[in-house]
Amino acid sequence: MNVASFVPKQKTLMGPGPSDVSSRVLQAMAKPTIGHLDPDFVGFMNEVQSLLRYAFKTENEVCFPISAPGSAGMEACFVNLVEPGEEVIICQNGVFGMRMQSIVERIGAKPILVKDDWGKAVDPQKVEDAFKNNPNAKLLAFVHAETSTGACSDAKAIAAIAKQNDCLSIVDTVTSLGGCPLEVDGWGLDAVYSGSQKCLSAPPGLSPVTFSERAVAKLKARKSQVPSWFLDFNLVLNYWDDKEKTRSYHHTAPVNALYGLRESLVILQEEGLESSWKRHRERHIELREGLVKMGFEFLVAEGDRLPQLNAVRLPAGADDAALRSYLLDNFQLEVGAGLGPLAGKILRIGLMGYAANKKNIAILLGALDSYFADSPR
Ligand SMILES: *Cc1c(COP(=O)(O)O)cnc(C)c1O
Repeated sequence: MNVASFVPKQKTLMGPGPSDVSSRVLQAMAKPTIGHLDPDFVGFMNEVQSLLRYAFKTENEVCFPISAPGSAGMEACFVNLVEPGEEVIICQNGVFGMRMQSIVERIGAKPILVKDDWGKAVDPQKVEDAFKNNPNAKLLAFVHAETSTGACSDAKAIAAIAKQNDCLSIVDTVTSLGGCPLEVDGWGLDAVYSGSQKCLSAPPGLSPVTFSERAVAKLKARKSQVPSWFLDFNLVLNYWDDKEKTRSYHHTAPVNALYGLRESLVILQEEGLESSWKRHRERHIELREGLVKMGFEFLVAEGDRLPQLNAVRLPAGADDAALRSYLLDNFQLEVGAGLGPLAGKILRIGLMGYAANKKNIAILLGALDSYFADSPR
């Protein structure tokens, strides 16, 4: 066997993630590896945590990146905060709420489902009703930015309902962090997780998380052990929590991946969080105009649309797989397919982080034009 080096082609990533990574981030990752407890790295970790607090708009003590992708951040919130037998209200309006249900069932807890159609935001009235009908519920979980459909839910209103009912909220912000307004402290969110590869435009594989004091109190008051060793915050925080200046080994942190995440957060800070939200919105409006002119219709109602994930219905007769292959083969351009009930029916066009720029919009609109010219409807 004689396998050569892998040399990926340069692509333009306009799907549901990963998004394009800037050369600054890639270069940061090529810096020399140092030990995960090296004195230089300990200071670096503090800076990563401060930058994450900035991005999440929180002052929470517990705020760090889990050494695994967004799905691990999701699992971490549930395994640390849910005990067997507890009732957890879960909002489902797309793929990711279904995963939450599966995790809760595996813990031996009881999911109570609040369902909305795919493409709709979570209906706060249904959440209120679920609390009325299930007064023993301990937690509420929902997805802020549902990447499978492009719908944005009112995280502030939904989390407030949890608080009124003396419950903690678990909030998926994998696609929202950096791309649209999100205020962990201002909105009173308790356990919040995200991902490195969406609007932060770092490579995949890290999951920033943050816990409020209320969430930490529930973790400390557990009667049963956290059922995952790797994700048990009581253990992981021996490494990430620097209160006593005694960081100690839990697992070998992915040092170079963290260089990349840190650089992406420095870039976010340079631009300014609010400016980044604004850029995503402005590029979304430009993309929307182009798509509507071409005859595309959006799946999600205007007020509930995510700027960073544009789900549009395929025109009648258009072949989803052929279209996406054409974009990839001729323009090295990746867009996302529909999932579940939306498979074959929509395109998911990401405008995430570094990829949310005018050049990408021009490439995408030109490429779609070219496809429809070559394959007349
Ligand atoms: C991408 C995504 C995840 C999962 O993140 P991975 O890094 O793929 O594990 C979870 N929730 C939402 C809303 C996502 O968009």
